[in-house]
Amino acid sequence: MNVRIDSSIDRRLGSDDLIVIAGAGGFIAGALTRYFHDLGYTRIRAIDRKPLPEWYQRVPDVECLSMDLSENQNAIRAVEGAVEVYNLAADMGGMGFIERFRVQCLRSILINTHLIEAAWMAGVQRYFFSSSACAYNTDLQKDPHVRALKESDAYPAMAERGYGWEKLISEMFCQEYWAERGLETHIARFHNIYGPYGTWFGGREKAPAAICRKALEALDSGRHSIEIWGDGTQTRSFCYIDDCVEGIDRIMHSKDLIATPINLGSSELISIGDLVGMVEEIAGVHLARTYDPAAPKGVAGRNSDNTFIQQVLHGEPRTLLRTGMEHTYAWIATQFADRKAGRRVVTD
Ligand code: NAD
Repeated sequence: MNVRIDSSIDRRLGSDDLIVIAGAGGFIAGALTRYFHDLGYTRIRAIDRKPLPEWYQRVPDVECLSMDLSENQNAIRAVEGAVEVYNLAADMGGMGFIERFRVQCLRSILINTHLIEAAWMAGVQRYFFSSSACAYNTDLQKDPHVRALKESDAYPAMAERGYGWEKLISEMFCQEYWAERGLETHIARFHNIYGPYGTWFGGREKAPAAICRKALEALDSGRHSIEIWGDGTQTRSFCYIDDCVEGIDRIMHSKDLIATPINLGSSELISIGDLVGMVEEIAGVHLARTYDPAAPKGVAGRNSDNTFIQQVLHGEPRTLLRTGMEHTYAWIATQFADRKAGRRVVTD
């Protein structure tokens, strides 16, 4: 057996302890599954509601189960024998999805509610919950020149309707399972994760992937124009997938971060207009811009304050947006060509 477990992280985890990863047919949990597999962990159970052929990534030697974790019996089955559980399963997408389908977003509460109870009943040692910057008070995000959000900014609560409130309440479940029942929980608030194997078309994609795809469509059609949602002044930070999975690992295995929500995001702020400019440079095309002020655009500005993660983990997501976007664009370009040629692509 070829085990290469990173010794700088004290995981308190044997190479054949069972790791359960929920939402593994999707973007981040798919990458997390590959990450633990590549580190040498030999017993990983990956679970997603989607049928197996629709998973974005299928990692060899991993037990893959297709089941709906919002059903209690499935949650119980899912965590059987697990030492660690990572809950990244949720009904979600970019602003186009979460502003339109609030009920669907809220119903993800069922996944965490059943999964954490099942994990506690099964004697799981550590439980991870993927929260979001959408849990933050939206009143603090009304200006594109935002002050970066620090962890205490979630309260007084005024989360993003639907999706953000589900995250905030599920965080609270994690905090109370620790306080009252002693289940060790860890909570990361992700800020706009992007990269290869993320959704890039179909309605759930986020801005970085959507802009790459639109640039490719413009090149392909010869109509060199792009439609931007909102007026392009909205600002965001974007965190590359490799930084995200390593961050999850470090947060889950930090004794200083039990039941303590922490930002997992980049602090490199950019406007959507400038992100379009970056993609134009990468793609080698100049695009005439049109704006749709009525399209979903989310809060005016949002950035990650990384003071706390620096303090406890002595690091923060560092991949430059330009580097991450080059990888993402190259991957989406391949997908785009495959789709055009009638070959299957990961988000079909
Ligand atoms: P994703 O949509 O690619 O993956 C989520 C997966 O969960 C999907 O494959 C979906 O089929 C699965 N799922 C949904 N309902 C399920 C159910 N009832 N039972 C089993 N599986 C179910 O999304 P992602 O970007 O990989 O996000 C992963 C987690 O991170 C989610 O909790 C999301 O809210 C959170 N998050 C993501 C971002 C981001 O920028 N991508 C930002 C903040 C938070």
